[in-house]
Amino acid sequence: MKKLLFLALLFLFIQCGTEKPNKQKPNIIVFLVDDMGWQETSVPFHIEKTSLNERFHTPNMERLAEKGMLFTQAYASALCSPSRVSLITGTNPVQHGVTCWTLRRNKSPEGMNRILDKANWNLNGLSPEPGIDRSFYFPQILPKLLKQAGYHTIHAGKAHFGAKDTPGENPLNIGFDVNIAGHAAGGPGSYHGDKNFSAVWRRGSDIWDVPGLEKYHGQKINLTEALTIEANAAMEAAVQEGKPFFLHMSHYTVHAPWEADRRFVKKYVDSGLNKTLANHASMIESMDKSLGDIMDKVKALGIERNTIFVFISDNGAPSQMTPNLPLRGHKLTAYEGGTRIPMMVKWPGITTETKRNNHPVIIQDIYASVLEWAGLSELQPKLTDSHSFLPLVKGETVSSDRRFIWHYPNLYDQPPYSSIRLGDWKLIYFYTDQHHELYNLKEDIGEINNLAKEKPEKVQNLAASLGDYLRNAKAERPILKSTGEPVPWPDGYLDEN
Ligand code: CA
Repeated sequence: MKKLLFLALLFLFIQCGTEKPNKQKPNIIVFLVDDMGWQETSVPFHIEKTSLNERFHTPNMERLAEKGMLFTQAYASALCSPSRVSLITGTNPVQHGVTCWTLRRNKSPEGMNRILDKANWNLNGLSPEPGIDRSFYFPQILPKLLKQAGYHTIHAGKAHFGAKDTPGENPLNIGFDVNIAGHAAGGPGSYHGDKNFSAVWRRGSDIWDVPGLEKYHGQKINLTEALTIEANAAMEAAVQEGKPFFLHMSHYTVHAPWEADRRFVKKYVDSGLNKTLANHASMIESMDKSLGDIMDKVKALGIERNTIFVFISDNGAPSQMTPNLPLRGHKLTAYEGGTRIPMMVKWPGITTETKRNNHPVIIQDIYASVLEWAGLSELQPKLTDSHSFLPLVKGETVSSDRRFIWHYPNLYDQPPYSSIRLGDWKLIYFYTDQHHELYNLKEDIGEINNLAKEKPEKVQNLAASLGDYLRNAKAERPILKSTGEPVPWPDGYLDEN
């Protein structure tokens, strides 16, 4: 009898021991916007309000900011695929090698160059399976780890992790339980339901047609709204199942094609903006409405206290938009306008009022942070370049000696480069003519004064650090046509033969 009682107690103990932590696991929503610049919101991320902050209406971002931490120096890569692969693998572009945008298997979007030949980058994107040529095989993909730990994992919107006809094109293959409208392409055919979200209207290829939302075809509904309705339903299903969820709410908006969200465009036309800019501003407000609708749904489901939000964009605003002033450059460039993005974190019980944090963080840090929230930090592979930002959100002091690395050895649209930030200093190395640019971001956020000639020692130190990093990681570089060899490393080293 005593033995039976002991066994029963032991059983109860084990049950409690296994169930309790699961119940406490927070829901995590990563709200990822596409191509949204640092200034394209009414929430100021700069030290003062700018004319761009005045242009945009994002009341729900303001609402999130009221109980959130604003990161004023948050970074991503300067374009889509590299940032997205970084977010769910915790690796930087040197490590994952998906340095440019992906779409078709074994095809690069790059053009010809007079001086350089293409680098051998991973043009097939992320792969959950080994053996796919020119892809980044990585077993510990974030949604996969979360799913194994009991999370219901939901992807909604733009995926763009792997090229078409590879396993990485389908979010279901990389650990998501649910895939709402994600596939290989990095943009939608159309944002309009009455155009069936298809690229037919602009004579585009059907590779851009958004999959899986057929029930909205023919309707006057915006893609952003349809995704929000579906994401909210998926969250509700997870709650009903009694599971914590991870929602990767990855909007197609505000990426091209810049089509109006008809619900919001009038006020921007009336304010005197041209058609493209008015359409774009309406897309920003459309994104913001989605954020508000998801926040409302979380509240209605009674899970607000146990649901964390991370808001982020994947790169700066593109050149066709208003300049990212006071930042220099735009999407695809090495400058801050390409890489600095808006980011906020709302962590109930921890962020209780607006706080601003000026410590640099980068998109792959979401990987370590989400794992820590889920109690899974021990699963993070050592070789990743992902630092949890939870200590920063809790207001703890964090060392500033981390080096941030960007790597774009590609021949698409902008000249290839690698760059490094350490403290307030940033060094950019351009592969085409092997010149360096040095900026002090604290004194010169607009990267106007290139100090490379004035401070050769600083250039040397940072170039050595960047060179070391790239060599150790066996980074791919473009090839000099004149020699048939890769361009020398940033510190001038040539490979030994
Ligand atoms: Ca993007």
